[in-house]
Amino acid sequence: MTLENGELRELVRKAVLLNAIQHDGKAQAGPIVGKIVGENQELKTKVRELSGLISELIEEVNSLSIAEQKQIVELKWPEALRKERVEEEKRLPPLPNADKYAQVVTRFSPNPDCVLHLGSARAIILSHEYARIYKGKFILRFEDTDPKVKKPVLEFYDRIREDLTWLGCKIDEEYIQSDRIPIYYEYTERLLRGGNAYVCTCQPEQFRKKTLASKPCRCRDLPEEEHLKRWRRMLEGGYAEGEAVVRVKTDLNHPNPAVRDWPALRIINTEKYPHPRVGSKYRVWPLYNMAAGLDDHLMGITHIIRGKEHLTNMVRQEYMYRHMGWGYPTAMHYGRLKITGAFLSKSKIVQGVREGLYKGWDDPRLATFAALRRRGITPEAIKKMIVDVGPKTADVTLSWENLYAYNRRILDPLSDRYFFVSEPIELKVRHVPRVFKAKLSLHPEQPEKGFREYTITPAGEERAVVFWVAQKDAENSEAGEIVRLMGLFNVKVEETKAYSVEASYASEAYGEARKAEARLIHWILVGEDLPCQVVMPDATVNEGIAERACEKLKPNTVIQFERFGFVRVDEAAPKLTACYAHK
Ligand SMILES: [Zn+2]
Repeated sequence: MTLENGELRELVRKAVLLNAIQHDGKAQAGPIVGKIVGENQELKTKVRELSGLISELIEEVNSLSIAEQKQIVELKWPEALRKERVEEEKRLPPLPNADKYAQVVTRFSPNPDCVLHLGSARAIILSHEYARIYKGKFILRFEDTDPKVKKPVLEFYDRIREDLTWLGCKIDEEYIQSDRIPIYYEYTERLLRGGNAYVCTCQPEQFRKKTLASKPCRCRDLPEEEHLKRWRRMLEGGYAEGEAVVRVKTDLNHPNPAVRDWPALRIINTEKYPHPRVGSKYRVWPLYNMAAGLDDHLMGITHIIRGKEHLTNMVRQEYMYRHMGWGYPTAMHYGRLKITGAFLSKSKIVQGVREGLYKGWDDPRLATFAALRRRGITPEAIKKMIVDVGPKTADVTLSWENLYAYNRRILDPLSDRYFFVSEPIELKVRHVPRVFKAKLSLHPEQPEKGFREYTITPAGEERAVVFWVAQKDAENSEAGEIVRLMGLFNVKVEETKAYSVEASYASEAYGEARKAEARLIHWILVGEDLPCQVVMPDATVNEGIAERACEKLKPNTVIQFERFGFVRVDEAAPKLTACYAHK
């Protein structure tokens, strides 16, 4: 399809107008080119002409008020605005340079030395989401090349895969760096042969002094043959740990000394520190910048999306890319995302679980995905929160409450309601005039979900009925007070004892309760009860009683215990065990 000039102009005008409406009336050129070319591949060769036209129309459009802009769009392309509105809700800013590559490829690259936690959510979700939006590829790469200090653990490879699946992040390709050691060796040799890397045998302290003074160490300028000889000696075991490292040449005058001739490979005594996957097969191990830097190129990563603490690593790796004659991928460095109160130290999590301080990777005190999953925090809520924060470079602080708010919006329409009585005590109601049928809706706004039904039959001369109520509700009641048993009837408290409350039937109508400003309390009929324990976020256990109707709940169901909070069911019978999510 070829566009006539007039058509092209209209197409651009539409894109500029829509962009302006999205950005408070001021269109921005960058994303517009990408969007137009993305939707009209034949314009790929006309980017320059297009850019000129865009600038021209931006000037025109930006001089209008947002109301005028909307009016034009409503009139000419009413469909567009509606579509835009739907997409607006959760959209990430366009990926820079997306049109420069045939296919967008992103990666998430954890060290399997711990399970994943909320601190990784941003890297995972942004990388996956962008790959998905641009119909690209999402790679999982295990960076497990430190068998000594950040030692990988076999069980975590699987746990990480599980976490990604749970988050809804489909892995298109997977790599494990400990399988790729010969590849790193091959490229190291290339760098050595080109004089772009060298084997340094200096004491670390000596080397540091030299680089701080912008001076080469005594190894740097030795002939290539010497370095290749040393390299072979490294591989053959001729050096002990710490006696030799391969360094990539950078600029000894680089303003940041940490960039100057960075270490690329070092020796680890794998007899003493065997790797969990490859044992003692290798003694020379690539360091982070070497392995990640090479892999990003070799795996065709087009966009590296990571925290800004990696900025210096990019500067380091760019030297290696220049030595190899490669172009560096597009890198996006987002700001720190702090979640107040979330415990995110990997080493402390691992140590705590190993020592029994935590009851497992899903201990509710942890912010691991396993723990969030167990508590009924949905992956959709995590995703929505991360997409809303986006890839911006400013630091962001969120709280658990923020995450709960996202989660509540998802759970609220889905969760059936039940009663839970914490620390139950008996409430005996006398003089109940007849049999009552309580019909409690499973969801107040969705009557189609159905009801829980209980028949309340008074017994004996006193026409008494016995209920379980929460200690907390009972404690606060005093003789003479009217309280309403939710969805049932009103009672008058007569006497409050240590382990029971005595009351008598007052009336049925809700209006009466309102008039008396009666408190609403929830209840469970004695005999229609199911023992229940809820594990709270601080790992304490709340013992109580749930309605018998909960017996049929399936594990993993999230329900709402009214006036208590959302819980995720672990097991429903013979005892209901659940984990607390939030209010
Ligand atoms: Zn040296």
